[in-house]
Amino acid sequence: MNGKGILIVVSGFSGAGKGTLMKRLLEKYEETYALSISATTRQPREGEQDGKEYFFRTKEEFEKMIAKAELIEYAKYVENYYGTPKAYVEEQLNSGKDVILEIEIQGALKVKKAYPDTLLLFVVPPSAEELKKRLVERGTESMDVIDSRLKRAVEESDGMEEYDYLVVNDDLEICVEEMHQIICSEHLRTRRNGAFIENLKEELRGLKGEK
Ligand code: 5GP
Repeated sequence: MNGKGILIVVSGFSGAGKGTLMKRLLEKYEETYALSISATTRQPREGEQDGKEYFFRTKEEFEKMIAKAELIEYAKYVENYYGTPKAYVEEQLNSGKDVILEIEIQGALKVKKAYPDTLLLFVVPPSAEELKKRLVERGTESMDVIDSRLKRAVEESDGMEEYDYLVVNDDLEICVEEMHQIICSEHLRTRRNGAFIENLKEELRGLKGEK
């Protein structure tokens, strides 16, 4: 079968449990998946390390990366650049790992344009009511911030149809398994296995007439 990994973009509303889901998936299947590390010009937060959460770069360094086409996509958020380095992603894909990019919708659509074979997954809560409940229970944001995140979710929900699959995050373990199964099935798509199919056809033709 095709030995190359699949590029996977995971997006989802704030509060849908994306972070926890990614962490569990990578813990459970560490040999299978690699999480892409983005480059950014923002300052590291306490505890963040260069090369772990992000590659922390100066604005000049980042602009050089753009000029040299070293990024698959990039976006500017509140004075800071964020982007996906191409080299790491391609290296991991070539080594057979499925590479996960955890980025927002705009970046996701740019990646799909550059790599049409990208699998797009959208993580959703079981219901809008549940999303609000999770944001409130997290207890880290004021009601104003929660309201603005819910508003953002309304905007982002417009792009959901661009994604290939929904991943409903109700029970964490079930959700991790469902996501893994979607990706396993994706590996078996006929269009991803052209060489295998051709080879099998060739072998079958060779068998004809044999005793
Ligand atoms: P933070 O500063 O909180 O770590 O991230 C801010 C935002 O940047 C988040 O919405 C995150 O998803 C997004 N982000 C992180 N890395 C990338 C990237 O490589 N490309 C794009 N387009 N967005 C990113």
